[in-house]
Amino acid sequence: MIIKSLVVGPLEVNCYIIGDEETKKAMIVDPGDEPDRIIDLIKEDNLTPVYIFCTHAHFDHVGAVPELKEDTGAKILLHRDEKEIYEAARDMAAFWGYDIPPLPEPDVFVKEGDTVEVGKLNFKVLHTPGHSPGGICLYGNGIVITGDTLFAGSVGRTDFHGGDLNKLKESFKRLLTLPEDTEVLPGHGPKSTIGIEKRENFFIEEFG
Ligand SMILES: [Zn+2]
Ligand SMILES: [Zn+2]
Repeated sequence: MIIKSLVVGPLEVNCYIIGDEETKKAMIVDPGDEPDRIIDLIKEDNLTPVYIFCTHAHFDHVGAVPELKEDTGAKILLHRDEKEIYEAARDMAAFWGYDIPPLPEPDVFVKEGDTVEVGKLNFKVLHTPGHSPGGICLYGNGIVITGDTLFAGSVGRTDFHGGDLNKLKESFKRLLTLPEDTEVLPGHGPKSTIGIEKRENFFIEEFG
């Protein structure tokens, strides 16, 4: 498995490129900004993107979706509960003083339990609301991509539109039931593992 990550945009989102070495098929996760840099990384390994996976639709995670869709034709995957946030992403960006191009319609609404196939690699979709209503994680092949649900040492904010602290607690607890050696690839900041987060994440205190 090829895993590449790059930090993009003013809010420093981790964009991931997950590729299957055998078939050279790939998935781009959270292309928030800087499409040219993302494309360069894809070309480096001669990868063919089949999916653009959005862990959620805050503008800092979807800003480069339009260019990448146009360049690669890859299918845009989003959770249905995130549609409203996706459609409002441009306005949210403008509110924060940023300009992103109009977003193309998502191609596929994924849901809890769905399998995303990237060449010969399979990943499971986990619906993890809390930071945003349609927040999703991708789990498989020893990694979990957690978007803004789980970070190294912390969790995402719940004070944005559609955020819900109780749901975030449920999503967090659920992620911690994954095997301890699962590598956590979050939407911002450094990598971690489920085992480390079980011991060190401040959010644990919320549960007494
Ligand atoms: Zn977010
Ligand atoms: Zn974010």
